[in-house]
Amino acid sequence: MENMWQKDIETMPRADLEALQLARLKKLVGYVYDNVPFYKKRLDEAGVTADKIKVLSDIQYIPFTTKADIRDTYPYGLFAQPLKKIVRIHASSGTTGKPTVVGYTKNDLDLWSDLVARLTMAAGASDDDIVQIAFGYGLFTGALGLHYGLEKIGATVVPTSSGNTEKQIMLMRDFGTTAIVSTPSYALYIAEVAKDMGIDPRKDLKVKLGLLGSEGCSLEMRAKIEQAWDLFATDNYGMSELIGPGVSGECTYRCGMHFAEDHFLPEIIDPDTGAVKNRGESGELVITTLTKEGFPLLRYRTKDVTSIDYEKCECGRTHARMAKPTGRSDDMLKIKGVNVFPSQIESVLISVPEVGGHYQIVLGTKNYMDTFEINIELLDGSLLTKYSELENLQHKIAFKLKTVLGLDAKINLCEPKSLERFAGKAKRVIDNRDK
Ligand SMILES: [Zn+2]
Repeated sequence: MENMWQKDIETMPRADLEALQLARLKKLVGYVYDNVPFYKKRLDEAGVTADKIKVLSDIQYIPFTTKADIRDTYPYGLFAQPLKKIVRIHASSGTTGKPTVVGYTKNDLDLWSDLVARLTMAAGASDDDIVQIAFGYGLFTGALGLHYGLEKIGATVVPTSSGNTEKQIMLMRDFGTTAIVSTPSYALYIAEVAKDMGIDPRKDLKVKLGLLGSEGCSLEMRAKIEQAWDLFATDNYGMSELIGPGVSGECTYRCGMHFAEDHFLPEIIDPDTGAVKNRGESGELVITTLTKEGFPLLRYRTKDVTSIDYEKCECGRTHARMAKPTGRSDDMLKIKGVNVFPSQIESVLISVPEVGGHYQIVLGTKNYMDTFEINIELLDGSLLTKYSELENLQHKIAFKLKTVLGLDAKINLCEPKSLERFAGKAKRVIDNRDK
């Protein structure tokens, strides 16, 4: 059996786990009713009280909470504890207007570091690792979340933050760094800069584990990163509203991300009707935080589309596993009337051996119609002088995209390293369309 941070809990029999969830759910409903006027009003309107929750499926009678509810109660309206008890604030930058603000009590921070300890250990990290955290530190939950969880398992944490890439690589070599925390796109960029410095990440560095997160990453992109570094990478899932990283994460079998089900109760709903789907069906992920004190959430709509597998995993863990989300409904693009997830485009592009990991989707308007272009970096710039080969490659990519998306795209192949690089989340989509 694998190394586990909290083996008794992680391998708990399903029936015991569900009994624990039910007890915690009942307690939570009473807790938010007493401590958050917003929830008291919502629960009163729905006629739900803690003693009406008899079985887990009774959760369906509790109203959803949405991102708009968090924004409408900015900044502290959903906090269930006075600020005197809140010891940390985080916030996620909204694309528009005010950020969503979350608060943690001391117990919440303890819980959070335990959850991250679980997921990093499940991914294969241990107290032997020297981990460089190349996420940006700040209000963003990624860096500090990983930081305290990795310290908890006894790993040696090097908090370099993002950016300063050459120094990052120098420290990586000098310190003997064995694991890296970063966005997938930044991991790829660091490998590229290392090569420019005459350092081969596969041979000259000791990084063998990638804890990648905070932006979507197709399996093809992950394979590319593993190849560039000669490392093993796992995926994890979280969002600041729920706690940050630690909601779910892959074990080394990489067959779905194990939820920390004793603290998060997941459901899959039909995003249009709100009805709960049958087990195994795909739909929008909704999560209730069962034990958080500072910022508990009832049935939070994540907008992520996924499915959940409740079968026990080969690793020994009994906690359910979520599939890699097919994309956030927020990220979905509507191009020429067709719904497209950027991740679908990425899967096609990365599967073409001649292209690197860097690309940019550019949308515009011409004659009141959408235009759809993709700038893609070649791995080998000399191809740009071979016109017939170049044209063949353009046709090949356009054809693959058409097959998958049903859309025609204009493919622009460009020089290696000609597109902008990002130390955090990559900006892959440039939408210049008329509103
Ligand atoms: Zn597993």
